Amino acid sequence: MSTLVFLETHDGEPTKGGLGVLSKAAALGAGEVSAAVLGTGVRDAAAKAGAHGATKVFVVEDDALAPPLPQPRVDALEAVVAESGAENILFAASVLGADIASGLAARLDAGLNWDLTDLRVDGGELVGTRPALGDTVLVEVGWTSTPRIGLVRSGTFDPVESGGTAEVHDVSATFQDFSTQARLVDHLQEESSGPSIEDADVIVAGGRGLGGPEGFSMCEELAAALGGAVAATRAVVDAGWYPYSAQVGQTGKTVSPKLYIALGISGAIQHKVGMQGSGTIVAINKDPNAPIFDFADLGVVGDLAQIAPKLTELLRARQ
Ligand SMILES: Cc1cc2nc3c(=O)[nH]c(=O)nc-3n(C[C@H](O)[C@H](O)[C@H](O)COP(=O)(O)OP(=O)(O)OC[C@H]3O[C@@H](n4cnc5c(N)ncnc54)[C@H](O)[C@@H]3O)c2cc1C
Repeated sequence: MSTLVFLETHDGEPTKGGLGVLSKAAALGAGEVSAAVLGTGVRDAAAKAGAHGATKVFVVEDDALAPPLPQPRVDALEAVVAESGAENILFAASVLGADIASGLAARLDAGLNWDLTDLRVDGGELVGTRPALGDTVLVEVGWTSTPRIGLVRSGTFDPVESGGTAEVHDVSATFQDFSTQARLVDHLQEESSGPSIEDADVIVAGGRGLGGPEGFSMCEELAAALGGAVAATRAVVDAGWYPYSAQVGQTGKTVSPKLYIALGISGAIQHKVGMQGSGTIVAINKDPNAPIFDFADLGVVGDLAQIAPKLTELLRARQ
């Protein structure tokens, strides 16, 4: 069995999600694991792929791949799949990754299983796990033909350095006329300070219990005292209290910090699926029957407006 992992790069750096999927593929210990790195100035990313378990890295460097657009990447990956003979092609979910995976599935007439939260090998076959029925059950999914394409839920696997090196193979791609029609006209970077919620060791998340957008200052102060990042539930994102980029859950991001502090969050299943992999979950909620207490490691029943600022004050005093 041979597996190819698409490594998305930003400014030449592979994303944590892609390296996590690569590490998982290598840990399966089933056949050759390679990586595909596409873009311009992506040689350093190829070295990182070797350090995370790939034995080969297929590099397509072309100006057509400079903007982060999916369609030229479908052409490039088609060439890499032909060269590598990969039977499994894995992606970490992102806006770009999902677009490329679906485009490649159409191009290769291949089956695509998405939203995977685990992978294993059974009798030489790749088997995925994915949540179903509104994330209330986990089901195992397979493929009826090769290549098998899998899109892994973001934040599912952590990168693990193996310290290896990979052979680098340059591949040239032919771009279809229709693949080069879209033009990137602008690209805005959201201003942020501190770690992103995908990378943070500590997350302070706020829900409707904050009472309004101004309540997020309590989250921000507590997060700053802990060197962490701020996340939000969909309810508050939908209400316009906090940006979507901070949303955790089924229709947001999956995070796995060492510490997750939930302020005024009920713990709906759609939120839980995005943060249940956190090391320690602390919940502050005034309702003793809030579902979040069923899976929190430490629960505090009380008014967050009184507890959160005190906690911040104590942490600052300790520093
Ligand atoms: C298809 C689908 C996808 C979804 N995707 C997501 C997703 O990605 N992420 C997500 O988060 N949700 C998602 N949801 C929504 C989800 O079902 C919940 O509605 C949402 O998570 C609730 O957000 P909340 O906990 O902020 O609000 P609420 O459920 O209203 O909970 C607020 C909590 O705050 C507590 N509280 C109130 N005041 C205080 C106080 N002063 N001190 C302490 N505690 C207080 C209350 O007791 C309550 O438990 C999705 C729903 C659907 C149907």
